[in-house]
Amino acid sequence: MNSLPEILASIHARIPRYWGQGAVANYIPALAQVNPRQFGMAVALLDGSVHTVGDAHVPFSLQSITKLFTFVLALRSEGDALWQRVGREPSGAAFNSIVQLETESGIPRNPFINAGALVITDILTTRYAHLDYALLGLLRRLSDAPDLHWNPQVAKSERETAHRNMAMAYFMKSHGNFHNEPELVLDNYCRQCATEMSCAQLARASIFLANGGQDLTHSGTPGERLLQPEAARRVNALMLTCGAYDAAGDFAYRIGLPIKTGVGGGMVATVPGVGSIAVWSPELDAKGNSVAARAALEMLVDATGWGTKGL
Ligand code: GLU
Repeated sequence: MNSLPEILASIHARIPRYWGQGAVANYIPALAQVNPRQFGMAVALLDGSVHTVGDAHVPFSLQSITKLFTFVLALRSEGDALWQRVGREPSGAAFNSIVQLETESGIPRNPFINAGALVITDILTTRYAHLDYALLGLLRRLSDAPDLHWNPQVAKSERETAHRNMAMAYFMKSHGNFHNEPELVLDNYCRQCATEMSCAQLARASIFLANGGQDLTHSGTPGERLLQPEAARRVNALMLTCGAYDAAGDFAYRIGLPIKTGVGGGMVATVPGVGSIAVWSPELDAKGNSVAARAALEMLVDATGWGTKGL
């Protein structure tokens, strides 16, 4: 097998063929300003090393990838009580679909679709006076990047156009599954989604999921424990079944790793026992997933065999 730097260089060289096959998200106006033809990839391994290629140090809008970290925060504070407010089944519907909420009494299918993430943000809004700082604090610690921030223009742009998310929040409130004022939760949610990180930082920040819930120091020695091993296993399982919206089945088939995607064009994937991968390219397919990032992950698992030994 080629070395990891060789594999990453070969993937990078094959990316231009995907340019133009998707489109940058434009339903959040500020996201439409991004240069579409960018590509970065980073792999953080359990020995503490981080391997990068392309635009891996360029910060991008995390969007739904933050749902992974807010879910971890909520799991830590609520434990199994969380499952009274949100399900853990794939939705088979678009990331922003409202339709299941009506037939399922305001309980969203899972924490990674918008409705479920809004409930998680509602839970965390009760828990934290300043949720943006709680989330940034966690991400700064995990990525060792003290200057991480959320982008105020992107947050404002999403907040001004968040009619559908607001509708879902009110609908869930009518069912008693929303405890704070929807306006307040939407403020927090839009700030959360506007958090920016680079692939190198994101791969580093999510390595605890590949390491049984325990972070690693930069020299690869054990760091902060975020989750017990069983909880980390469950987060990975949920990523595998629900992390790519209504394309989760296709992603499991093609790549077979726990993944969380976002409409900023980013993806994070874990290879339990091996490391964590972050990849970003802004052009999205019709289901809201990055075309080039998905292709890159597929190339990486083909070249490394990661994921073939089972999760
Ligand atoms: N902030 C986005 C929204 O609520 C996140 C969507 C995503 O990345 O899937 O629409």
